[in-house]
Order: sequence, then structure tokens, then C-alpha cells
Amino acid sequence: MSFENKLNEGIFCIPKCDKCKKIVWPASEFCNHCFGEVSLDEGNFEAKIIEFSGKNEQYFCLVEIEKTFRIIATISKIPEVGQSVIISKCGISQGNYFFEVS
Ligand SMILES: [Zn+2]
Repeated sequence: MSFENKLNEGIFCIPKCDKCKKIVWPASEFCNHCFGEVSLDEGNFEAKIIEFSGKNEQYFCLVEIEKTFRIIATISKIPEVGQSVIISKCGISQGNYFFEVS
């Protein structure tokens, strides 16, 4: 199952290379370092807020995943820089990835 299929079901997975164990982002079927096959890791992972902006209970934040790559996510409460979060909601809407953290 592909990263996007999972995301479409609301499950966020980390694409990791079977061979060199590097995270492959943007998600791809093959590793961009060694061309190894990529599997999807559904386990717990580290997510941290790098920066945020917004007002009126709609905040956008830049979230760093496993110290490797960054995604843009929404959060309903005012976040703090450096705060650890979890991805509470995710999916694909009109062709775009969306993420919500809490
Ligand atoms: Zn690799």
C-alpha cells in the first residue's frame, strides 16, 4: 500500500528505506539514496513545532518529523515553539496533503 493510500485513510506513515534505513521524503516507492525499497512505518515518531503563525484559533505550524523533514499542519490551540505534538488528523483533500496536530 502506498503512502498516499494510507494518508487517504487518515493514517500517517513514515516512508523508510529497507536497505539504508533512511527516511524517504517526499514519499516514494524507492529510496533516493540507495534505490532500496521503501516500507511504511506506522509506529510512534517524534513531531516537534518549529514555528507557527495564525490567529482566531486557527494556527498553522511547521512541524518537524523525526528531525528529518517538515510538514505544514494546523493546530486549534495556540502552540509553542519546540512543543512535541502528535498528528491527530491527516488526509488528502483536493489533491493536497493536510495534517492536523495536537
Ligand atoms: Zn536507502
